[in-house]
Amino acid sequence: MSDLAIRKLSKAFGGVRAVNEVSFDIKRGEFLALIGPNGAGKSTCFNMINGQLAPDSGEISFEGTELVGKKPREIWRLGIGRTFQVAATFNSMTVVENVQMALISHAHQTYRLWKPASSLHRARALELLAQVGMQDAADRPSRELAYGDVKRVELAIALANDPRLLLMDEPTAGMAPKERNDLIALVKRLVIERGISVLFTEHSMDVVFAFADRIIVLARGRLIADGDARSIRDNPQVREVYFGTGKTFAKSEASS
Ligand code: ADP
Ligand code: MG
Repeated sequence: MSDLAIRKLSKAFGGVRAVNEVSFDIKRGEFLALIGPNGAGKSTCFNMINGQLAPDSGEISFEGTELVGKKPREIWRLGIGRTFQVAATFNSMTVVENVQMALISHAHQTYRLWKPASSLHRARALELLAQVGMQDAADRPSRELAYGDVKRVELAIALANDPRLLLMDEPTAGMAPKERNDLIALVKRLVIERGISVLFTEHSMDVVFAFADRIIVLARGRLIADGDARSIRDNPQVREVYFGTGKTFAKSEASS
């Protein structure tokens, strides 16, 4: 069963065809990597799916509902979550309060209720923090967190909306290799445990080949490959785009 169906999606900026007739599906429970060189059109795809950017043409349907024309908030309410860069207020609250705020927002409650009800959703917030391995830091000020831990809390905040599809555009940007691997391993575990689907971009081929159920490849706005790690690794067009003809992925990156 297909959760998200994208058909002939296109977007141009001036003369640049950022996304050019791209079609792909995401199945329920699938951990799908979207890869491609810088400028390939990955972020443009993400921004059309989440409603921030209107496509020039094409269709995006989620569980049978057409998304094109809907506002970001409507799409978010339909169950498509994304990891946001943390809000400006993030540093002024404790870790658990940040997750509580997200739960309050998901429950349609307003910020006015926040002050008198600091225990609101606390138990559920602690549960979400436990899922991302951050329960021990619940009552610490968020500003004290290390970068990788902020990313985990961002993930808990995204999960507070109970998404069925989660969009993650470069979730590990700025992370060291070990942190990268750990965060993607964590997301993969959540995909399996919760049965959600995730579309993500990631620069490390090691990480992509180790964890993605399926990989789709964009180059200059075109989808050039769609398959499992082995088929992508052996795909001559993909090799050409990344390394020039004849080269293969480095040995250390070909070990999944
Ligand atoms: P990726 O995320 O794969 O690096 P992007 O989707 O960000 O690629 O960009 C695809 C192409 O579209 C690039 O050529 C980029 O310069 C161009 N582009 C993206 N956003 C805009 C914009 N808002 N205005 C003009 N050009 C843009
Ligand atoms: Mg991008």
